[in-house]
Parts: sequence; structure tokens; C-alpha cells
Amino acid sequence: MPAPHSQSAQPEIVAANYAAVLERLAGAARAADRPVASITLVAVTKTREAAQIRPALQLGHRVFGENRIQEAAKKWPALKTEFPDAQLHLIGPLQTNKAKDAVLLGDTIHTLDRVKLAHALARAMDQTGRRPSCFIQVNTGEEPQKAGVLPAQADALIAACVRDDALPVVGLMCLPPIDEEPSLHFALLRQIAKRNGLAGLSMGMTSDFEVAIAFGATHVRVGTAIFGHRPPAA
Ligand SMILES: *Cc1c(COP(=O)(O)O)cnc(C)c1O
Repeated sequence: MPAPHSQSAQPEIVAANYAAVLERLAGAARAADRPVASITLVAVTKTREAAQIRPALQLGHRVFGENRIQEAAKKWPALKTEFPDAQLHLIGPLQTNKAKDAVLLGDTIHTLDRVKLAHALARAMDQTGRRPSCFIQVNTGEEPQKAGVLPAQADALIAACVRDDALPVVGLMCLPPIDEEPSLHFALLRQIAKRNGLAGLSMGMTSDFEVAIAFGATHVRVGTAIFGHRPPAA
């Protein structure tokens, strides 16, 4: 596969990268005998300036992902004024005290991972009248430094979010360990989702989204392949 063009994402480079990603996505869908429309491409724009994001919007892309609430709050209200049907997916670790900001800003939240956060999101939804769809993040690699509920506790958390907090839970999300075969993690996530009756699977990034699609991903989160490499500090 071709390496993504690096650095400063000029409009024509974003356009070429974006076309290449759509082609890869369509190829992976075909190989998995799945409709392309069953897969949502979340274009991840963390660390990108509005000027780098706008070309993707002008190409007609509408679904974007950000990691940090504060960064998203700086860029997206203005971009959403320009492109009112753009959707923002929040894919980074979420502090409980940012729940209200997340609900106001996000159209989908991928990183619900604990009961306390579920309560805070439910309260924020009641206060604001907004109800972003939620994915529950599962720490499939059981990495101590990583967000996400442990696989053994996932069923209980899913039940609590749906039953006690009446949250609009649509699926599960994972971020496999960098140095492990991702397919094992994708298969585990799919298994947990299936036994809990959840249809959504947010999994797969630049390096592994085709594998994720083979394992049933409904949402792939792709940054580098579209916008180029991020500065190392980010
Ligand atoms: C940054 C990020 C991505 C995108 O990663 P790329 O390798 O640039 O495609 C996907 N998911 C999460 C949670 C991220 O933080």
C-alpha cells in the first residue's frame, strides 16, 4: 500500500490521500462481502488546523474525530457554522468534569468506559437536551495505562449504561496495543458486542483499518492516511 503523503496537508494532497483511503475502504468492504455503506469513515483531525480540515469538508466528507475536548472546542464550532451537517466524533479519553462539554460538542462519543462517566453523561444529556450516541471503549489488551473497561467487566458496564442511565449505547470501541496482532483484539471486541446485542464496532486506524473491516468494523478512525503524519509531540 502507498505511504500517506507526509506533513503539511495541502488541499490537493488531502484530496489524493482521501481518494486513496476511500478506495482502500471500498476494497476491504468488497473483500469482506459487506456493503461500503455499512462502514463509516471517521476522519481524525487531532492536531490539524482548520485550514487543513476544510479541504476534506469541501470534498464532501462529513464525519470527523477529535481527541481533546479543548482542541475540538477551538476548531469545530466555526467549522460547523460553515458546514452545518458536519458530525464530530469524540475519540479521546474523557474526564468526568468534561462530560457536559463533550455532550454539547460531540455528535458521537467513542470513549465511555466507566460508571461514573456514564452518570455524568446522562446528567449532561438531561441538562442540554442533546443525546450523542455512545460507544463503550474496551481495553482489549488490558494495558494499565490505557482507557477502557476491562473485557471481563464490559458486560456489566454495558448493562449499567443502558439500564441505569438509559444512555444511547450503539456499540463498542477498542484501540489495540501497538505491538500486537490487531485481529485478535478486533475479534474479541466483536464477540463482546455480539453477546450484548450491540451493532456498532469502532475499530481500525491508518495501519489496520482493512483488517478491522474484515472483522466487522462499522466505524474506522483514520487520521494519518488522510492528513499526513502528525508532529511527533502530538
Ligand atoms: C489518533 C487516533 C486515531 C487515528 O490514528 P491514525 O493512525 O493517524 O489513523 C484513531 N483513533 C484514536 C483513538 C486516535 O487517538
